[in-house]
Amino acid sequence: MAARINRDLCTGCGQCVDTCPVEAISLDDEGVAVVDAELCVDCDKCVDVCPVEAISLD
Ligand code: SF4
Ligand code: SF4
Repeated sequence: MAARINRDLCTGCGQCVDTCPVEAISLDDEGVAVVDAELCVDCDKCVDVCPVEAISLD
């Protein structure tokens, strides 16, 4: 499992990038958050911090 980003909801605010303890999230060329599934440890912190509920763990 890894965190998943809903690209239609993400505003590119960067809060999840700053919050992730393993630096698994970055903003892509379009300013949308992307998760490196190899790094994600399913900690749920990005899900909690996203102001538009664009992130889920499934
Ligand atoms: S669930 Fe945790 S480790 Fe995975 S991307 Fe979100 S903050 Fe990073
Ligand atoms: S916190 Fe949410 S809205 Fe902000 S960059 Fe991350 S996924 Fe996008």
